[in-house]
Amino acid sequence: MARCEVCGNDYGMSFEVHAQGAVHVFDCFACAIHRMAPICEHCRVQIIGQGVEVDGNWYCGGHCARAEGKVGIVDRV
Ligand SMILES: [Zn+2]
Ligand SMILES: [Zn+2]
Repeated sequence: MARCEVCGNDYGMSFEVHAQGAVHVFDCFACAIHRMAPICEHCRVQIIGQGVEVDGNWYCGGHCARAEGKVGIVDRV
């Protein structure tokens, strides 16, 4: 069985996440979120749902992107 790359737990129900050509192995979603979730550049919250990417920076929503001076951003619905 695969071993979680975050906590090292060797768990039978582990799962793989394929992202950007790499394969990550986790035992639970909490570990996957810890490893995979980008951080909002403005409020530092972990982005679990849909984020907004502007110029390579991630924001949790359009309001944070605008707060950082990124104009013209519309939330993806
Ligand atoms: Zn884990
Ligand atoms: Zn934010």
